[in-house]
Amino acid sequence: MCGIMRGMDKKLKIITYGCQMNVADSERMAGLLRQIGYSLTDDLDAADLILINTCCVRATAEDKVFGQIGRFKTLKRQKPALILGVTGCMAQKEGADLLKRAPHVDFVLGTGQSSEVARVVQSIELERKHVVDTSNVSGDIPSEVYPLRGGQVSTFVPIMYGCNNFCTYCIVPYVRGRERSRKPNEIIAEVKQAVAEGFKEITLLGQNVNSYAGGMTFAELLAAVDKVAGVERLRFMTSHPKDLSDELIAAIAGGEHICEHIHLPVQYGSDKILRRMNRVYSVEGYLRLVEKIRAAIPNVSLTTDLIVGFPGETEEDFQETLNFIRAVEFDAAFTFIYSRRSGTPAATFANQIDDETKHRRLNELMTVQNAISLAKNRAMIDSVVEVLVEGASKTDDKIFTGRTRSNKLILFAHGSERAGDRVNVRITQAQTWLLKGDVI
Ligand code: SF4
Repeated sequence: MCGIMRGMDKKLKIITYGCQMNVADSERMAGLLRQIGYSLTDDLDAADLILINTCCVRATAEDKVFGQIGRFKTLKRQKPALILGVTGCMAQKEGADLLKRAPHVDFVLGTGQSSEVARVVQSIELERKHVVDTSNVSGDIPSEVYPLRGGQVSTFVPIMYGCNNFCTYCIVPYVRGRERSRKPNEIIAEVKQAVAEGFKEITLLGQNVNSYAGGMTFAELLAAVDKVAGVERLRFMTSHPKDLSDELIAAIAGGEHICEHIHLPVQYGSDKILRRMNRVYSVEGYLRLVEKIRAAIPNVSLTTDLIVGFPGETEEDFQETLNFIRAVEFDAAFTFIYSRRSGTPAATFANQIDDETKHRRLNELMTVQNAISLAKNRAMIDSVVEVLVEGASKTDDKIFTGRTRSNKLILFAHGSERAGDRVNVRITQAQTWLLKGDVI
């Protein structure tokens, strides 16, 4: 309370890189900082505290963060009272080394310490000295955090942190620690709180939600959240194919608000590379899973992640992957070039692929997948879909955007709709990444 009284007018700017988990972490840190008197601003010059919440999954993300930190050097010189903090995965990975490279940063907090952000900022307000803490990476999850949520229709609720899978290319288990699940009652309380704030769509988040172990199965948790009054749409991500159970498929099929969309990262379409990635399933097993999902949930939309240029990838492996995505016909795929992350096993593998080959394969992969996505979207023309309205498009306020239950982005001419409404839209046009239609 004293903190709130002391500094009602302090401004906070948060810059978030990376995945939805980082967005959720930023909202939680903003919630904690609100308790000591900070309110959000978009104006960097007005900020008393700038927090950069970082990602290190790909080298490009890391380069961007260092570029951003560098740009704040001048701002710090002009405004010495400004506090600059770095949090998240890169903070965890770099620790004190980050201060060597960027001494104008005031504090570095790893992923296990984000709940300490308010205490650390208060200590720096009282006495300017560097703070670095990357301890507790697999520690207990703090409860009772009231996030300061962005957006107004959809929001994220983390159900677990960390990952036990150690895919050979991935840095996440090292920078986010082992899996820890939140208790169901805390998750339900947070969902109720989000609904009370006006959010209609909840996405339950975890690196691998299927291995949720908070005292019930993930399918049971999903069914319990589905019953919370006011939840109009329920989503989840991400699912590891090895853990997606029949029970979960049945829960989605039988759910009322659980959307018919599963993001099921396959990463590659050849057994040889899947083994080298330590993904612990085969192409055949994945195809059987897809068959089972489609039989139980006929309107399901399936999306995936794919990596090209993994060490040891041959032209034959790559062609197998193209055939695989032709066979599955994903609704959409997020395609990535393999990024060599030091500290992961794959960084030491022989036969790293050259950049030119990686880019060529990425382009080929995208060409094949984009044609599939377009054909799937075209098949929806003339159908009527339920759309949750998100608001005006960024480029034209006469056009509104929303999403179908299958998570497809849809644009339509704005009438009297408001963000958060559910409307029926007849689809009139289809593109690779979006649909257009008219409200009926
Ligand atoms: S499942 Fe694999 S890719 Fe996903 S976060 Fe864990 S280690 Fe990384």
